[in-house]
Amino acid sequence: MVCHKCGEPAIGVCIFCGRGVCKDHYTTTLPTMLAMYLGRNETPKTVVVSNVLWCGECRPQPEPVEMPEFY
Ligand SMILES: [Zn+2]
Ligand SMILES: [Zn+2]
Repeated sequence: MVCHKCGEPAIGVCIFCGRGVCKDHYTTTLPTMLAMYLGRNETPKTVVVSNVLWCGECRPQPEPVEMPEFY
């Protein structure tokens, strides 16, 4: 398995999209929206967030997103 960004050996996969990420391209710092998404059923949100591996690119949506610009 290799990083989807640079092709180096991956250290893990993104929890959301499953793509490989290397030590230079993964992140464990999530936007507030993702932290809420991960922790909505958990009380210690910071613990949940600190243990995730995220590619930094994908944007999982916990709820359907309205796109008013198409109307
Ligand atoms: Zn990489
Ligand atoms: Zn991802």
